[in-house]
Amino acid sequence: MLARARERGRAWDFLVIGGGATGLGIAVDAASRGHSVLLAERDDFAKGTSSRSTKLIHGGVRYLQQGNVALVIEALKERGILRRNAPQLVHDRAFVVPSYAWWESPFYGIGLKLYDLLAGEYGFGASSHLDVDEVVAAIPTIETDGLLGGTRYFDGQFDDARLAIALARTAAAQDAVLVNYCPVVAFRKSGGQIRGAVLRDAESGAEFDVTARVVVNATGAFCDEVRRLDDAAAEPIVAPSQGTHLVLPRDFLPGEAAIMVPHTDDGRVMFAIPWLGRVIIGTTDVAVPQVDTEPRPQAGEIEFLLETANRYLEKPAKVVDVLSAFAGIRPLISAQGKGTAALSREHALLVDPTSGLLTIAGGKWTTYRRMAEDAVDIGQTLARLQVRSCVTATLAIDCNAPEGGELLHPALPITDAQVTRFCRDEMARRVEDVLSRRSRCLLLDARAAADIAPRVAQLMAMELDRDEDWMAAEVAAFRKLAAGYDIAATATA
Ligand SMILES: Cc1cc2nc3c(=O)[nH]c(=O)nc-3n(C[C@H](O)[C@H](O)[C@H](O)COP(=O)(O)OP(=O)(O)OC[C@H]3O[C@@H](n4cnc5c(N)ncnc54)[C@H](O)[C@@H]3O)c2cc1C
Repeated sequence: MLARARERGRAWDFLVIGGGATGLGIAVDAASRGHSVLLAERDDFAKGTSSRSTKLIHGGVRYLQQGNVALVIEALKERGILRRNAPQLVHDRAFVVPSYAWWESPFYGIGLKLYDLLAGEYGFGASSHLDVDEVVAAIPTIETDGLLGGTRYFDGQFDDARLAIALARTAAAQDAVLVNYCPVVAFRKSGGQIRGAVLRDAESGAEFDVTARVVVNATGAFCDEVRRLDDAAAEPIVAPSQGTHLVLPRDFLPGEAAIMVPHTDDGRVMFAIPWLGRVIIGTTDVAVPQVDTEPRPQAGEIEFLLETANRYLEKPAKVVDVLSAFAGIRPLISAQGKGTAALSREHALLVDPTSGLLTIAGGKWTTYRRMAEDAVDIGQTLARLQVRSCVTATLAIDCNAPEGGELLHPALPITDAQVTRFCRDEMARRVEDVLSRRSRCLLLDARAAADIAPRVAQLMAMELDRDEDWMAAEVAAFRKLAAGYDIAATATA
């Protein structure tokens, strides 16, 4: 791919900066309309927020509470489209809102009927009232003291990083060229207008120029950094907010249903959701001063999540039970004077009037396809390309993940053959790529993932022709990273 990205004399229709949900969606959209596309990602695909979500493809019950009906309708429609186009990666999940006060069942019952109604033809199944026995059958570990019943509804669940890789494969199949570990470090302009960019191959350090008719800044929470490469005085548009998740063993929530807490002490919703044989608890919303590539959960967030979850779980979870803790930064568009929890999840498109840089930020994973459609509609006009219609509403997403081989660890779903295929077919370059995003081992059990890092490095070295020094450096780097996710070890140290 890198050799194709460096082809001299080639002018791309679209240069997309950022390989998260937004950038990958744009690459799929533009390429499937027949435009030529180069996508450059600074780290690995989905290294940013797009591998750190709550893993829901949802309309957002919370946005309904906020009265943002238009956003809910759009997201519910996208939920239906995505389940149809990526059935191996998006599936239904039952959620139960347990009631401990007399008014909760009728109140949430009506709200969730409205949610069903707004989904229309894209519905995932009707919500219904559950009596106490039915709630316990769905969630065997629910706190029964004071339990009066509950409401069940359905939403979508997915593996975010795997969907990102599937989008990358789909874009490549449409002839887009995608490169990871290749940041955009400067723009090339003529008469004030952006005509291309300078990319740096992070492995060799070599820089090279690319030319493009339109450049899309799809770098999420990092978009202000890239805007400042264009205009050093650009005012920030992102108000970064961090959300943390804790991963627990499955026996804390052994049934098939998830718990949805509609109103936490800080006025948010919180979930406890079965995921890949574990349970995800999340999330929080904490304004942060800067955007880190590896945001770390704060002590207050961990405490808040455990305390809130333990009100609903019969067996209380403690820090030492946590298998992994991960945080992501929301690319919320700033609005002065509002807390981050009240900011919109809708996306913003911004065209710099001088340089023509097209920035897209905000939104949700669920609405990535719609965001991409908007960006490409504008981009092809800006670039004076032939105007072609979007085809992604019916475009199947390439969901084939490698299978087979010998398990590397009894507690982790990864085999030796998969490691090789991740390098060969999915552009994995580092141990972290394999253990955090091609597979989800780091999120499922940070300590077990650190244990198999040497074997993964060895398999990767064989495939990528690396030496002993590379293996040692990769294992050390991964273990350092995993230590930040293994909050149970820190608590017991
Ligand atoms: C805690 C949390 C929970 C969430 N849960 C959900 C959920 O359950 N469902 C849902 O629908 N949405 C959810 N979201 C929202 C969703 O995850 C985000 O909206 C989405 O992932 C943003 O994708 P993005 O591509 O815009 O940004 P990112 O995924 O951050 O991608 C931006 C990319 O740009 C790259 N980049 C930065 N600078 C450069 C450069 N100079 N050159 C090249 N590349 C560069 C970065 O490395 C990064 O990979 C959640 C968000 C958070 C924070």
